[in-house]
Amino acid sequence: MKELTRLIKDYARCQGACAVGIATTETLSGGPPSTHIADVLPGARAAISFAFPLNQELIAPFLMKKDRRSHEKDNIDTNGLVGGLSLQLSKWLDQKGYPSIPQAPNDVYRQDSPGGVLDMVPEISHRYLAVRSGIGHFGLSGNVITQEHGAAVILGCVITSAALVPTEPLPETENYCDECQLCMASCASGLMSSDQTTVVSMGEKTFSYSKRRSYLRCEYVCGGFTGLHPKGKWSTWSPGRFVIPEKDKDFLPAVIQGVKAYAQRPEMEGGYHHSLMPGTKLWLTCGNCQLICHPEKAVRKERYDMLKQSGVVLQERDGSLTAVSPQDADAHIAGLDPFTRSLYVDVDDA
Ligand code: SF4
Ligand code: SF4
Repeated sequence: MKELTRLIKDYARCQGACAVGIATTETLSGGPPSTHIADVLPGARAAISFAFPLNQELIAPFLMKKDRRSHEKDNIDTNGLVGGLSLQLSKWLDQKGYPSIPQAPNDVYRQDSPGGVLDMVPEISHRYLAVRSGIGHFGLSGNVITQEHGAAVILGCVITSAALVPTEPLPETENYCDECQLCMASCASGLMSSDQTTVVSMGEKTFSYSKRRSYLRCEYVCGGFTGLHPKGKWSTWSPGRFVIPEKDKDFLPAVIQGVKAYAQRPEMEGGYHHSLMPGTKLWLTCGNCQLICHPEKAVRKERYDMLKQSGVVLQERDGSLTAVSPQDADAHIAGLDPFTRSLYVDVDDA
């Protein structure tokens, strides 16, 4: 198993992974349901966790509202590479006599959650497997942060019946997260709690990060239905300006209203299909908490400043997006006909 573990790590690195680790049923024991690998593959003994880096060069243009599509394409391509490696590696292990199951990097949700798939609880948490196996640390954001690429990585895993040799979590002293809170400041949805913490124990190791409030917050904003920060000075790449509620309970009606409007807006360039969006594509408009979090604090600050100064996004009738000042955006919205305005602004304000 030692040699097989070595080969698997090399396999993943040869395919482009920047980090590879192994979690086992022992190192995941006592963890939350999304670490129960035997629920996915009866007889599972281990999970191979890995990360692929996003292209850092495309992050600043995305945050500055200069170029949305290049980062979106990189994100889609990298997810494809991660999913491809999961599939290839699981088949490679199958052929060696170890039944294995690939896990898609995203868009796989548990049906047994109280709100069903809308709760967006993953079948297997790539994040939990990644921190337990030493791919990276939890940042305050709850994202997995890596020494080299920060949070700008896409995670994947393979569940296998092979009893691989586990890898240990990284020492907490090496975690670069200094609780700068720029991830929170760059999140228009308020997903991360500033005063509550989630603690997770797996295999007698404990990890923590800021508690996530209703995931509908991220669905509403990262889904692109709305994007104007509550202070009105900047937005995500979403042209939506619907008010972001303060309380978790108000997000479900807001998302329902947002989805209806979203489906009637002109199509944007690019995009991708998501299981929770039948009939229309999704376009990448946020991810700020991930993109801001660079290992160097100066770069984090620089990126946050880029976001704050990037303006407010408007959509033209041909679907294209333009970033303008908040004042120009208000004037543009006021000049729209009532129906078009209702696709972007709360009806009471339309
Ligand atoms: S942005 Fe700052 S607080 Fe948030 S995870 Fe990164 S280093 Fe930690
Ligand atoms: S992706 Fe955007 S909306 Fe979702 S948590 Fe991160 S910053 Fe907030």
